[in-house]
This record gives sequence, C-alpha cells and structure tokens, in this order.
Amino acid sequence: MTDCDREVDVVVLGSGGAGLTAALTAAVNGASVEIYEKAATVGGTTAVSGGIVWIPAHNRSPDGELTEADALKYLEAQSLGAMDRELVETFVRTGPQMLDFVEAHSELRFEIAEGFPDYKPELPGGRPTRGHH
Ligand SMILES: Cc1cc2nc3c(=O)[nH]c(=O)nc-3n(C[C@H](O)[C@H](O)[C@H](O)COP(=O)(O)OP(=O)(O)OC[C@H]3O[C@@H](n4cnc5c(N)ncnc54)[C@H](O)[C@@H]3O)c2cc1C
Repeated sequence: MTDCDREVDVVVLGSGGAGLTAALTAAVNGASVEIYEKAATVGGTTAVSGGIVWIPAHNRSPDGELTEADALKYLEAQSLGAMDRELVETFVRTGPQMLDFVEAHSELRFEIAEGFPDYKPELPGGRPTRGHH
C-alpha cells in the first residue's frame, strides 16, 4: 500500500477473528476503519480453526440458561486458583453480549455445538454433553 495520505480513525492489522471483531465494533460505533492483512488470504488461523466458540454463560441452550456461577466454578477449578478473577468475570458476563452484537451487525450466526463436551467436563461446573460452545 503506497497511499499514506488517507486518514482513518482505526487501523486494524490482521483479519482473524480478533481483528475482524475489533473492526466491526469500531465501525458500528461510528469509526472509519481499514483492515490490513499481511497474508495472501483473509482469516488467519481463525479461518482454518474448528470455529467453535466457548461462551460459558448464555441463554441459548435448549437445556436452559447456563449460569455465570457454574462458569466461574469451572474456570476456577481449571486455573488451580491462579486466574485473574476480574478479567474472567468480565469474559463470562460479556460473552453472550458479544454473540448478540456480532449477530446483530454481521451475517455470522452462532449455533449450539450439539454433543460437544467441555474439555474437562468432570470439573465442578463442567458439562458433559452440550451447552457452552
Ligand atoms: C487447527 C486449529 C483449530 C482450532 N480450533 C479452534 C476452535 O474450534 N475454537 C477456538 O476457540 N480456537 C480454535 N483454535 C485456536 C484459534 O483458531 C485461534 O486462537 C484464533 O483463531 C486466533 O485468532 P486471532 O484473530 O487472534 O489470530 P488469527 O486468526 O491468526 O489472525 C491474525 C491475522 O493477523 C495477520 N497479521 C499478523 N501480523 C500482521 C501484520 N503486522 N500486518 C497485517 N496482518 C498481520 C495474520 O496473517 C493473520 O491473518 C484452533 C487453532 C487451530 C490451528
């Protein structure tokens, strides 16, 4: 890119899930955004991943609402007490808002990953069949 005279509010480097979500958020909030990708293809690791998103406390499960308390219990057990509680609480609380936001402002749609267990379903708050993904 040789044209360095243009001005935009936000420049995003990388077109993976993180970059595209950041770009979407900035654009929806009124910023002008440009995304630059160094690879020949769009999508980064995200494009070749399993595409499964672990959002632990949402209300889309056919089994009923998944609670923040269970999600925190599960993550606490996984971390052996070493987690940054404030950061993890923010992730647990805002994950469902992220799903709603992305769906409201893009063509992406999330579905429950039927039959997909948590990686350690035997831990407190873990689920053996479905729900968190
Ligand atoms: C086979 C596989 C399966 C996976 N499955 C899952 C799954 O099911 N669920 C899950 O949660 N995670 C999964 N992961 C992990 C997940 O894919 C990554 O953690 C996630 O995609 C990272 O997203 P990202 O946006 O941070 O990075 P990326 O998707 O890698 O995007 C980064 C982009 O930035 C570009 N870039 C880097 N530097 C620059 C620069 N200076 N200028 C411009 N562009 C730049 C790169 O080329 C790339 O396109 C999987 C990973 C693999 C390899």
